[in-house]
Amino acid sequence: MNGLVAILGGGESGVGAAILAQKKGYEVFVSDLGKIKEKYKNVLSNYNIDFEEGQHTEDKILSAELVVKSPGIPETAPLVVQLKEKGIPVISEIEFGGRFSSAKTICITGSNGKTTTTLLTYHILKNAGINVGLAGNVGKSFAWQVAEEAFDVYVIELSSFQLDGMFEFRADLAIMMNITPDHLDRYNYEMQNYVDSKFRILQNQTKNDYFIYFDDDEVIKSELNKREIKPVQIPFGLGMAAEPGAGVQDNRIIINFHQNQFSMSILDLSLQGKHNTYNSMAAGIASMVFRIKDEQLRESMADFTGVEHRLERFLKVHGIEFVNDSKATNVNSSWYALESVHKPIVWIVGGVDKGNDYSMLQGLVANKVKAIVCLGKTNAKLHEAFGDSVADIVDASSMEEAVKAAYYLARNGDAVLLSPACASFDLFENYEDRGNQFKQEVRNL
Ligand code: ADP
Repeated sequence: MNGLVAILGGGESGVGAAILAQKKGYEVFVSDLGKIKEKYKNVLSNYNIDFEEGQHTEDKILSAELVVKSPGIPETAPLVVQLKEKGIPVISEIEFGGRFSSAKTICITGSNGKTTTTLLTYHILKNAGINVGLAGNVGKSFAWQVAEEAFDVYVIELSSFQLDGMFEFRADLAIMMNITPDHLDRYNYEMQNYVDSKFRILQNQTKNDYFIYFDDDEVIKSELNKREIKPVQIPFGLGMAAEPGAGVQDNRIIINFHQNQFSMSILDLSLQGKHNTYNSMAAGIASMVFRIKDEQLRESMADFTGVEHRLERFLKVHGIEFVNDSKATNVNSSWYALESVHKPIVWIVGGVDKGNDYSMLQGLVANKVKAIVCLGKTNAKLHEAFGDSVADIVDASSMEEAVKAAYYLARNGDAVLLSPACASFDLFENYEDRGNQFKQEVRNL
């Protein structure tokens, strides 16, 4: 019998880790300071796994030989600090799952575009008949699937928080979408800490592995100059395609890999907008490394249906297009949203500001935004940033108010864009709740 594995957080990843730990012969204890969802409590009971909620029984947790921590719990939480002081390893669920899996992994990180690229890559591989699982921030827990499925390949979305709990894990193929300031509140407001966290995706990679990265990103490029990079590097960007690499020429994406060249018109990609061209290139490169045939790749890149809450153009009311980009939780993602809408915009923005600097949006806002609806508990920073450049700027304290105000300000031919550039938890449960309320209120108009 192995020792005790304590699991902090009884959500999807924690419950998955618990099932895997039990299967591997560990004693298991799940502890959540908040409430555990009913469906997960039922799973834990069915597996006879010991758990608690609303508290952490410290004595027990501090006696564990290994702790698997949910990425939502910060490294600075008092219990986590105590564990580290005692020398008890605290790892993430992906790290734990990786210790018991020999499947190939495609790991995707970055500040924006992770979920879209992950789902597109999964879609392409699955359509091509590969026995592939989807894990990380999207889909089911990786550890759970390692315990109960037998996939040959996993496409895994990795946040910086997950990467912080990863040590021995090795990605066969790592993808870095971009690095722009985000979550700085969890990184001591030091950008370098956040960059270092993202670059953990490269740790343990060897020369037989691959690193696919966004070549137009200054932060990534300067970081690459500082580090010794072992895997094969495959850049993508809007310039000429390297060999191996991806680029854009005459409105076509070009991907070179191992003497093969794949080319497809940007107009035929199902995901539109500049940011999505990047996402398609990254997923396309990964697919070529997995030797997906050109025709299959082309078909899957054309028929992918997109992802809810990401620039989702879901309804027109009296000629006004409503776009749900609730997932835009930082300034950079809202930049791409504003960039990709080609109509006068009534912009619904605001929420929990994670140390935002709005200056990079000034030009786009001045050119494209006719009115702003601020939707957050505190909106002063938005007024300060855009009060001079936009004629109409109003406050709303609920989604109903925000949608009504935006509808009043918009005219036939305009777009109402919800792209908050902020986290959602001041007025909403999460970004899905924010996006769903937006869509419901628009339907109520
Ligand atoms: P993540 O999982 O990294 O949060 P998503 O795919 O969910 O990324 O997209 C989040 C938001 O970021 C979307 O609303 C979209 O507007 C924007 N976005 C998507 N892809 C990119 C990209 N490659 N670069 C910048 N912004 C992007």
